[in-house]
Amino acid sequence: MNGRVAIITGGANGIGRATAQAFARAGAAVAIWDRHQEAGTVLAETITAAGGQALFQRVDVADAAAVDAAVAALLERWGRIDVLINNAGIIRDAQLVKVKDGQIVARLSDADFDTVIAVNLKGVFTCARAVAPQMIARRWGRIINAASVVGLYGNFGQTNYVAAKAGVIGMTRVWARELGRYGITVNAVAPGFIATDMTQSMPPKVLEAMIARTPVGRAGQPEDVAAAYLFLASEQAGFINGAVLSVDGGLVIGT
Ligand code: NAD
Repeated sequence: MNGRVAIITGGANGIGRATAQAFARAGAAVAIWDRHQEAGTVLAETITAAGGQALFQRVDVADAAAVDAAVAALLERWGRIDVLINNAGIIRDAQLVKVKDGQIVARLSDADFDTVIAVNLKGVFTCARAVAPQMIARRWGRIINAASVVGLYGNFGQTNYVAAKAGVIGMTRVWARELGRYGITVNAVAPGFIATDMTQSMPPKVLEAMIARTPVGRAGQPEDVAAAYLFLASEQAGFINGAVLSVDGGLVIGT
């Protein structure tokens, strides 16, 4: 990745943090985009102290104006953007309608539906739209989107999240077709169950069940997904386009 500039959205924590470290170790200059200023700043300093190249930009991917401004600032600073890892994501889980003792006791709110779509689906669109023009001009680019196995198979209690992730897979296939001719490949990664803050909020019973259903018998680590992002961003992956790479320990094929 020497000489390459990579944006990693949601880069301050979890999979994004492991990705920023992996890309920096591989020689890329890394722009960490996140809403979480403190964690992002500390990470950029840690990478720089270890001899890598990194900067933090406070960006909410749901804010199109902020995304466009951050791209302009990054181009001013480093002159190019080669890789976009659309990794930022959130959950707001709730059943469509929740029934208890025969009564409807709750339903998925408009706010929770819209917030997840704004970050996990529209944020991916906004970031890709912002970086694509200069990738087209330079005839090289890699856009890699965080989907999820649930975007392929659905999941109980995740209407909003699954809608977004399935949409991300759809957009990946559209952009693979639209941008391939300019030397830009667009792929998605579909993680299974990965041990990060996002999954730590799940009830222990659900976590144990996920591991029990994973043939390799463990939770994924952020580094497992970072390795897939890094491979898809590499020169060697130049003929992989429009793919959805599961990184799930075999979860979806079941045990
Ligand atoms: P995480 O919660 O540990 O980290 C997400 C990061 O994204 C945080 O740093 C957060 O501040 C940032 N973020 C959230 N909203 C943002 C916004 N609007 N703008 C900018 N940054 C924002 O999550 P994670 O587990 O590392 O997940 C990373 C990606 O992988 C997500 O897209 C997630 O949906 C996907 N994924 C995770 C798992 C899993 O099991 N952890 C499984 C499948 C897919």
